[in-house]
Amino acid sequence: MSAEQKLYVTRPLVPPLEEFLPYLTEIWKSKILTNNGPFHQQLEKALADLLGVNHIALFANGTLALVTALQCLRVTGEVITTPYSFVASSHSLLWNGLKPVFVDIDPDTFNLDPGQIEAAITPLTSAIMPVHCYGTPCAVDSIQQIADNYGLKVIYDAAHSFRVEDQGGSILRYGDLSVLSFHATKVYNTFEGGAIVCPDAKTKQRIDYLKNFGFADETVVVAPGINGKMNEIQAAFGLLQLRYVDNAIAARKKIDTYYRNALSGIKGVRLRKLAPGIKHNYPYFPIFIDSCFPLTRDELYRKFRENDIYARRYFFPLISDFPMYRGLPSAAKTNLPVARQVADQVLCLPIYPTMQDSDADKVIAIIQRNA
Ligand SMILES: *Cc1c(COP(=O)(O)O)cnc(C)c1O
Repeated sequence: MSAEQKLYVTRPLVPPLEEFLPYLTEIWKSKILTNNGPFHQQLEKALADLLGVNHIALFANGTLALVTALQCLRVTGEVITTPYSFVASSHSLLWNGLKPVFVDIDPDTFNLDPGQIEAAITPLTSAIMPVHCYGTPCAVDSIQQIADNYGLKVIYDAAHSFRVEDQGGSILRYGDLSVLSFHATKVYNTFEGGAIVCPDAKTKQRIDYLKNFGFADETVVVAPGINGKMNEIQAAFGLLQLRYVDNAIAARKKIDTYYRNALSGIKGVRLRKLAPGIKHNYPYFPIFIDSCFPLTRDELYRKFRENDIYARRYFFPLISDFPMYRGLPSAAKTNLPVARQVADQVLCLPIYPTMQDSDADKVIAIIQRNA
């Protein structure tokens, strides 16, 4: 079977090459390749406007943005986080010498269960790092209440949350900082890329120092910063993508609806509920296979692969099961029963803007044939 006929879990959003060439010509003319060049400045402004946030600092990727966000807030000791995420969430803690403390998730939102956060707080806790999993907003008000009561910082891993809004606007406005990823597989991409959303100019200034080695000017270094800068090619690509991203999300929504119509009511297949009152962005289409389905989740996963459909188990294994985490007290099996069950049941189906109904039909047929 040709590569075109294979159905991957995602395909990156890539605008027409002709439309990118003028940007490249501009870069070749100006010879400004990086270090807060004109496209970088334009993209920061355009994204802040589009997302309706005060300030945004661009990064070479989301992981460097996470690492820098923790540096920016001078987080120390222990950080409460979710085991049900991409491994970079917790890795950013280890890169800062911080101890992850895993708390179980809510079975409907797949986000940190706010009712279990307080019990995990110790005198060493300085922050909470929740993830808006699949773009579903966390229990932001409960989390902020707890953070205020205990004097904790809140850093959202918002890698899945580009363009997600509640009634008051972008969910990126919650917490002390929110971190985005613009990796090729995300709803909006700059090849690789990321950003920190922050509320005020002073914090943005500190982040900008930190992502450029800590340089405040030519000869003054104010912090042990890193090289986290986004370059001009990435920024130019990001500007071009802005013409397409909302249509891409609309196309994702159509596939989401198509799947829902076909798959709801199949015994043993649970779908993610879309939280009401939220403008969603449909980054994934997870289904959850329980024991009422004739095949196990992994049998269905293999059945898909035999048919050239590359469904993915996001997120399995749990972060807390990887070798650098599993020895932590909070990684104990008994501490995370919901996350464990969800990780054992999840399968993310292909969903991307250029996907056709006929592609979705192939995926649906495999499930129906085996139900
Ligand atoms: C993609 C992702 C990241 C990492 O972002 P990169 O840009 O790939 O470094 C972090 N957290 C979550 C939840 C992600 O999905």
